[in-house]
Amino acid sequence: MREYVTLECGECGERNYRTQRQTRGGEGKLQLKKFCSRCGKHTGHKERKK
Ligand SMILES: [Zn+2]
Repeated sequence: MREYVTLECGECGERNYRTQRQTRGGEGKLQLKKFCSRCGKHTGHKERKK
């Protein structure tokens, strides 16, 4: 099974990316370094489920 997750900037809260990933029970939330256009730099992005 796959689910859609939104990657949200940890600093400003902007939702910059959408991605698909495989559902895995018990897995913690990932935090990825992504470029945020609002912050103008790379920040930690958190997964946000719908
Ligand atoms: Zn940001």
